[in-house]
Amino acid sequence: MSDQAMNALREKFPNRLQENVLMRNYTTIHAGGKADALLIAQDAVELEHFVRQVWELNLPLLVLGSGSNILISDKGVRGVVIINHAHNIQIHQQQERYEVHAEAGALMGKAAKLAINRHLSGLEWAATLPGTVGGAVYGNAGCFGKETADNFLRAEILHRNNGKTIFSKEEMAFEYRSSILKRNLVECVLLSAWFSVIPGDYEQSMQQVETYHERRLENQPFGPSMGSIFRNPQGDKAGRMIEMVGLKGKKIGGAEISAQHGNFILNSSDGSAQDIWELIQLIETHVCQQFGIYLHPEIQLIGDWDENIMKQFDTYQTVQEHA
Ligand SMILES: Cc1cc2nc3c(=O)[nH]c(=O)nc-3n(C[C@H](O)[C@H](O)[C@H](O)COP(=O)(O)OP(=O)(O)OC[C@H]3O[C@@H](n4cnc5c(N)ncnc54)[C@H](O)[C@@H]3O)c2cc1C
Repeated sequence: MSDQAMNALREKFPNRLQENVLMRNYTTIHAGGKADALLIAQDAVELEHFVRQVWELNLPLLVLGSGSNILISDKGVRGVVIINHAHNIQIHQQQERYEVHAEAGALMGKAAKLAINRHLSGLEWAATLPGTVGGAVYGNAGCFGKETADNFLRAEILHRNNGKTIFSKEEMAFEYRSSILKRNLVECVLLSAWFSVIPGDYEQSMQQVETYHERRLENQPFGPSMGSIFRNPQGDKAGRMIEMVGLKGKKIGGAEISAQHGNFILNSSDGSAQDIWELIQLIETHVCQQFGIYLHPEIQLIGDWDENIMKQFDTYQTVQEHA
């Protein structure tokens, strides 16, 4: 970022602006270089204020929640990163209907547990999901046969051109692990979202959450990761395919394909984002050779990646079958 832009930021955010911040500390895979500038929004008012100011300066902006679904380049991120800690959650009753209203920086798991504590059911599937409401809506996160879109009612969005506006479920255009936000069709930031829940039985809900928790403990490896790297292709499992091509346990630098679950890459000993990217490429090449398809990545590459890497990644995201 230019000196002029940095000075403008220093002026706008005295005492709050952090410079040259290592992003590995803000991602669950513990990899990634430095962001030029970083702001931590402690509440919804700050989030909105920070976003508007950065847009006013015409600087590149990245809003992050828990950083659990992204791989940031070792060269870092140009522009401003806002870490969203706006985490207020409220439960409203509208006649017979109940709604959970959560700010985008609230953890999905917390929203689910709060609803359960109020004897409300429907979000149990999300109780063990890592990450924030913002990340979950953006990527239509899901597990155990459910996804964010199932409970989603509407969201408050800060739109660069139109200001604050409410997006309906239709306007979010959810697809498998995607929404209109992820498909980059609008430049906006999610401020909060409403989810539907219904009266339920506390004990039953807790039992269900316990089952999900045990399933995660059984199936998912422990350690710094981004969760599943690839979507499951139709009729198959990415993890099984990676196992079939003999890559479970494969290491590059400090990163490794989990020996327990092929669809997880672990940053086991200070691996770089490049190590992780090379493992992703290795998987794509081997799976393509044996099965004739590219696996579609669930994660996003973020920041200052070489152009040829971004092009390759786009290929994986668009050309799924008959590669
Ligand atoms: C161990 C582990 C298990 C996982 N299991 C699952 C699983 O079962 N199912 C699943 O779907 N995912 C899973 N994930 C991936 C991840 O937890 C989810 O995708 C989660 O919803 C991401 O939320 P986040 O806050 O971490 O988003 P981040 O990684 O911070 O951000 C992801 C994207 O969302 C955007 N974003 C975040 N907040 C906003 C906002 N307020 N406005 C606009 N854009 C925003 C970011 O810019 C970024 O592009 C797992 C990850 C881990 C590490």
